[in-house]
Amino acid sequence: MVDLHTHSNASDGVLPPAVLVAEASRWGLRTLGLTDHDTTAGVGEAVAAGARFGVEIIPGVELSTGSDGDREIHLLGYFIDPEDAKLQAGLAEFAHGRRARVERIVERLTAVGTPVELERVFELAGPGTVGRPHVARALIERGHVATVAEAFERFLRSGRPGFVPRYKVEPERAIALVAGAGGVPVLAHPLGTGDVEGTLGRLVPVGLRGLEVYYGEYDEATRASLREVADRWGLIPTGGSDFHGAGFKPGRDLGGPSVPLESVDRLRAAARQTAPGRRMPSA
Ligand code: AMP
Ligand code: ZN
Ligand code: FE
Ligand code: FE
Repeated sequence: MVDLHTHSNASDGVLPPAVLVAEASRWGLRTLGLTDHDTTAGVGEAVAAGARFGVEIIPGVELSTGSDGDREIHLLGYFIDPEDAKLQAGLAEFAHGRRARVERIVERLTAVGTPVELERVFELAGPGTVGRPHVARALIERGHVATVAEAFERFLRSGRPGFVPRYKVEPERAIALVAGAGGVPVLAHPLGTGDVEGTLGRLVPVGLRGLEVYYGEYDEATRASLREVADRWGLIPTGGSDFHGAGFKPGRDLGGPSVPLESVDRLRAAARQTAPGRRMPSA
């Protein structure tokens, strides 16, 4: 079994990377892609745990790019070299943008009478990247909302009083960062873009190599039609649960979607092409 889209507490997931890998092993996963938002901080720990548990870890990342509203383009990068200096410089810049955004969100929440402590939000995020889910957890602690979903619905999503647009990153730049680090750029949860064909028309010519077809929240018919889209554009069909923690959302459980081994083989082959001299994690 394979899961190519997961988050640890290096970003807004709940489990530490080693615990995530232990869980993956317990569920029978042989290959796990760790794709934290805008950071590779969890990759080292995951790879070490993978060696202990017999789970192949694909070093990955998920870069948030695109619009000011709910429609965003998320790019997954697979088999990236976490040591790549340009990639890390980009990630440091995005992390700074995330902190500045959260500061503004907290100001707005205070202004509308539902204050949370900025310090607490950063504490909840820990050493990894901070995001709206950490603000949501702080809102719960202060008793302003009961669940993360309610926090987004009432305060954090586009059009709500706590919403602040994210730090703007163009998807073309995210693709270049991933490819420059020897990785394979893949469009995550494509329906979230609001325009799959338009997005592919824009991004395939600048180096997009894959499409997330077997996504946790997509039903069989959607997966079948996305598979057809991937084949038509010559893209590698990938998939994963987008796991953030147990019971996060329906369809988002670790190892949920069935992802073919073919996805891993084709990603590996594409990464070898990008960085021919590099030593690759072996199967
Ligand atoms: P950010 O990266 O700070 O914009 O936060 C986006 C993250 O928040 C997503 O990757 C999800 O993990 C989470 N998220 C977005 N919308 C919701 C929602 N309605 N309910 C729960 N979590 C959400
Ligand atoms: Zn997330
Ligand atoms: Fe995403
Ligand atoms: Fe994700």
